[in-house]
This record gives sequence, structure tokens and C-alpha cells, in this order.
Amino acid sequence: MILTDTHTHLYSEAFDEDRDEVIQNAIESGVLRFFIPAIDSETTEAMYQLEQNYPEHMFLMMGLHPTSVNENYKSELAHVEQALKTRKFYAIGEIGIDLHWDDQFLEAQKEAFKFQIQLAKKYKLPIVIHCRKAFDEVFEVLESERSPDLFGIFHCFTGTKAQAEQAIDLNMKLGIGGVVTFKNGKIDQFLNEINPSHIVLETDAPYLAPKPFRGKRNESAYVLKVAEKLAEIYNKSVIEIAEITTKNSKEIFGI
Ligand SMILES: [Zn+2]
Repeated sequence: MILTDTHTHLYSEAFDEDRDEVIQNAIESGVLRFFIPAIDSETTEAMYQLEQNYPEHMFLMMGLHPTSVNENYKSELAHVEQALKTRKFYAIGEIGIDLHWDDQFLEAQKEAFKFQIQLAKKYKLPIVIHCRKAFDEVFEVLESERSPDLFGIFHCFTGTKAQAEQAIDLNMKLGIGGVVTFKNGKIDQFLNEINPSHIVLETDAPYLAPKPFRGKRNESAYVLKVAEKLAEIYNKSVIEIAEITTKNSKEIFGI
């Protein structure tokens, strides 16, 4: 069984004490591929280090996270552009809009999102979308860029069934993580009506740990808990869920 964690921040300081152990645990649980989203220029070196230590397992993304969009976003976008010129990445991510904290930089977030979607098209890469309290704004930008060469993952999808369908119609897979195991997570109510060919697994470690680890530090090994919940929802075996979602991730990331 091969599980794929399509979204994990393994370079985070939350893993500074026991990173190798965390990665070994995940590998022993069958998680063999880790897709690593970028945040901003501060995380780039740590991502490269991770890849150097586990070249067969780590697949890096490049991008500017919406919560890192501030006065300096133009120089941050230049960093993204420069990095893309120098080496291989597997996606542009994570990018999008986040209105949880404030909307001071909403216009800049939209512009950065749009600019990075265009970079993804240029490099024929998928995008990995971060959307928090901003479904309308995210869909507005996505619709304006709608085209057959726009594709990717709607990371940590927490929307409604209608929003899931709209995302799928925009060539997006739904990134499903710990939230699906939460009592009030809501997406477990309709996921059985969404074909599993549109779903990939993720943890978003160190955040959003699934039940029974909710509230604790999340780890990539727990992607198995997400797979177990989906097996229940779809009435399939965990092995089948692993197979389908790993296949979907390969299709997206081109590996
Ligand atoms: Zn993330």
C-alpha cells in the first residue's frame, strides 16, 4: 500500500526535535511520497535541505502563501519566479486568499494569486490552493483564469457540495485531510456523492490533526487516519482508497 501526503510542512520548526523519526514513522505507515508546499522565501532553504536528506520521498512546491502577502509581496513574487527558473518544482503552492486574520492586503492577495496562476500555466504545473474564509474571492480569480491548462488541488477543502462541484469543474482535485474526521467538519456529509477520482489525501502537518489526535501536532503518518475515514465514507477498503488517491496525485503532479 502506498499512501501519498499531498500537503505537509515537514520543514516546520514543529519537527525540529524529531524530524527524522516523524518521517520514518510515516514511511513505515506506507506514506512514501510527501509533497511540500512553500510559504515564502524564509522556508526555501529548509525545503531544499529536506529534499537533500530524502531525495526519493520529497517533492517540492514553490509559491507565496497568502498570509505572507504584505508590503514586500513583489520581491517575494520575484523570489518565486527566480526559483522556478533555476530548478524543478512539482507545483505552484500554496497560493490563494486568506481572510481569516484581516483583509488589509486583499487586493495584493488577489494579484499575487493571479500572477502565480499565470506562472503555473507558463511552467505547465498544477496549483495548490489555500482558501480560508475566502471562497467567493478565490472562485472569482479562478473563474477569470479558467482554461484547460489550469489544474491542481483545492487544499484542505472545507466547502459545500456546490463549491466542491465548482472546484472539480475548474480541474481541481479536493485535498482531504483531518477535517473529514471532525464531528463538525461537514464535508463527510456529502463526500460520498463526489467521485473518489477527484480526491487526494493530505495532512497539512503540523496543523489540523485528525481524530483521535485532534488538537495535537499533526504528522504525515496520520494520513492513514484520513484514508480510514474515507474508506468508511466510500465503503471501500483502505487499500483501495490508497490506490485511488495515490493514482490521482500522480496524475496531478506528473510523477
Ligand atoms: Zn499548508
